[in-house]
Amino acid sequence: MAETDHKTTRAGLRLHCFQGIPERLLDVSFRDLWQHLEGPSIFDIPGRDARPLLVSVLLHGNEDTGWTAVQNVLRRHLGAGIPLARRMLLLVGNIAAAKDNVRTLDNQTDYNRAWPGTRYPEAAESALMREVVEVVAAERPFASIDIHNNTGNNPHYACVNRLDENGLHLARLFSRTVVYFTRPVGVQSAAMSKVCPAVTVECGVPGNSAAAVHAAEFIEAALSLAAFPEHPVPGHDIDLLQTAVIMRVPPDASFSYDGSDADFRFLEDIDLMNFSELEPGTRLGRLGGNKTRRLTVVPGGDFDIVPESYIAYDDGAITLAERAIPAMLTRDPRAVRLDCLGYLMHRIDRTGKRSETT
Ligand SMILES: [Zn+2]
Repeated sequence: MAETDHKTTRAGLRLHCFQGIPERLLDVSFRDLWQHLEGPSIFDIPGRDARPLLVSVLLHGNEDTGWTAVQNVLRRHLGAGIPLARRMLLLVGNIAAAKDNVRTLDNQTDYNRAWPGTRYPEAAESALMREVVEVVAAERPFASIDIHNNTGNNPHYACVNRLDENGLHLARLFSRTVVYFTRPVGVQSAAMSKVCPAVTVECGVPGNSAAAVHAAEFIEAALSLAAFPEHPVPGHDIDLLQTAVIMRVPPDASFSYDGSDADFRFLEDIDLMNFSELEPGTRLGRLGGNKTRRLTVVPGGDFDIVPESYIAYDDGAITLAERAIPAMLTRDPRAVRLDCLGYLMHRIDRTGKRSETT
């Protein structure tokens, strides 16, 4: 397929740019994209409104819902000769990791930690993402959507990195649950929110066709939005949450979910607590081994808090010491090692202040 202009980033990772998208790609599984594409690629797909919607998929190679959703949308339109309501810039991200069905390859920087604001500005992936922002910003995008999956039992929810009304309107097209976060840094939606309204959407676990249908409906809704409403999102239309702390297992500590001895013996079904309001004293697991290890608890937001005070260790039980709403608690050891055990959140109001009791 014919490529339009492209540059090579300093460390050799190249962004491939195409006009349009070949229809044969619409039947290719995410794991086979490497057979058709040479690397991370942007497709410029025309629509009736020339201001584009950026849609990014597969920044994490094993998170297939975004790609399947885009295939659904494009098949419906291109297959039937019906133009998109709005032009789409489609970024297909980490196809090398997709080939192996993993989030990120061991020799790569995470494609969703490498955007401007990243802690790894020297990485080849960071140069690539700077180039993406430059290419996309030049087209004056209408909005940006980054589509992800996660590993635990989580409802579908949207994330924003700014509390501006247009971003919240966009988020609300996906879900009434909206999480505001400022850390981790280097994520797509934080970088793009400096250019246009931008959201990350979390579509539950990978490989679920209902999730792809939901994400496809969201893409269609965003493409069809002619302009953002003038009025603010009504308060009763949105459940706004902010991450207070991020919980990690120290790299040299062991953990288990099946009760077998380890420094941290987490509850087998720990992810079932995600997005429920938990009281102090709620148990996350028990300490094992020599019972001296502690979770690494770091701030995840702008609250005036002492992160370590969120978790208590009484009589070997690992318990919550503050009212909080967990998210992304996972039973996937690889996710724990690569990212975190999970987050603890509070409800906030539109100004970012903690609201009511949680
Ligand atoms: Zn992801």
